[in-house]
Amino acid sequence: MADIETAGAGAAAPIEADAVIIGAGPAGLFQVFELGLLGIKSHIVDTLKHPGGQCAELYPDKPIYDIPALPVCGAQELVDRLMEQIKPFGPQFHLGEEVVELQPREDGRFDLATSSGTRFVAKAVVIAAGLGSFQPRRLGVEGTDAFEDKQVHYRVRNASDFHGQRLVIFGGGDSALDWVIDLTGKATSIVHVHRRPEFKATPASVARMQQLVTEGRMKYVEGIATAIRSADGRLTGVTVKRTDGTLEEIDADHLLAFFGLHPKLGPIAEWGFELEKKAIKVDTAKFQTSVPGIFAIGDINTYPGKKKLILSGFHEAALAAFAIAEHLNPAKKVHLQYTTTSPIMQKRLGVNG
Ligand SMILES: Cc1cc2nc3c(=O)[nH]c(=O)nc-3n(C[C@H](O)[C@H](O)[C@H](O)COP(=O)(O)OP(=O)(O)OC[C@H]3O[C@@H](n4cnc5c(N)ncnc54)[C@H](O)[C@@H]3O)c2cc1C
Repeated sequence: MADIETAGAGAAAPIEADAVIIGAGPAGLFQVFELGLLGIKSHIVDTLKHPGGQCAELYPDKPIYDIPALPVCGAQELVDRLMEQIKPFGPQFHLGEEVVELQPREDGRFDLATSSGTRFVAKAVVIAAGLGSFQPRRLGVEGTDAFEDKQVHYRVRNASDFHGQRLVIFGGGDSALDWVIDLTGKATSIVHVHRRPEFKATPASVARMQQLVTEGRMKYVEGIATAIRSADGRLTGVTVKRTDGTLEEIDADHLLAFFGLHPKLGPIAEWGFELEKKAIKVDTAKFQTSVPGIFAIGDINTYPGKKKLILSGFHEAALAAFAIAEHLNPAKKVHLQYTTTSPIMQKRLGVNG
């Protein structure tokens, strides 16, 4: 994705913001637009390294047929179009960061902190967190949690950490295959483990992996991890149950698992909002939560008649923007203006001369 203005993580001083949006799915992205039309700049944070939420992560290549005026639109195409639409408002993206803290301050603003240490002081917060933040699916083998990020990994932060190491890499998608291919020859040994003969990865990557096996440069085992071994507080190996039921003991310094991502409500559940079926209750005039100044739009909210559709998130973003404008400036009435005829909106959009 080109031209995303991202901020460096973990800035020392808190960032003072009018609005911070948690979640860069379609609802969060359109919130940037609606706030921008009213002259309000946004910071937008997402656990994922790219914008688009479910559309980009779960079904980028699938067609969507119920976006008004677009008879058919690819899910990633929708994200790309939203990114294009919000460009004039220069939102500041903070990608690959999960908002882990949200607390009201005595001055009526809100303190937010991310997993990377970025802090904000915001006048208004929009929670557009969908089904929750996308987290890696874990190995699900007893004892692995204790080694997470040390010897059990669900993402590669620095590939050189694995050079000269004995690796077991799990998964049948592109991430797993890419790392198998990339690290072969650099790691001391590589065993690739996948639970079934079919792969989600591109056929060319699968063919390359099979060629590396034939050349004796790495090993492939069809099966699943069932146990780990450790000694003196260090992981030393993993037991893999092959598809035929036999066990294989593999010595390893690191296990890397790439099983894809799934959304998890995460820290939002602990922020004290009234929840119903893992969704935050809001009113339908402002889409405000029980805390004035904190709004919730898109799949994360609930109200009588709520439908978890992209269309609903767009409508909610528009009304929340008006409510946020009033929250930021209670003395000033916000009048409805049309983009077709409003000079100030056209100026903000950069289309007026
Ligand atoms: C297969 C499939 C097909 C679908 N087809 C359609 C369709 O045809 N039409 C339709 O209208 N809808 C469809 N949907 C539903 C649609 O995708 C959702 O309604 C929409 O994505 C909701 O948008 P959102 O922005 O509210 O949330 P999401 O798209 O879920 O985005 C939320 C974002 O918030 C981030 N986040 C959450 N918590 C945090 C946190 N604490 N810190 C930082 N980031 C956080 C997440 O990582 C995520 O990226 C479909 C869904 C699926 C799975």
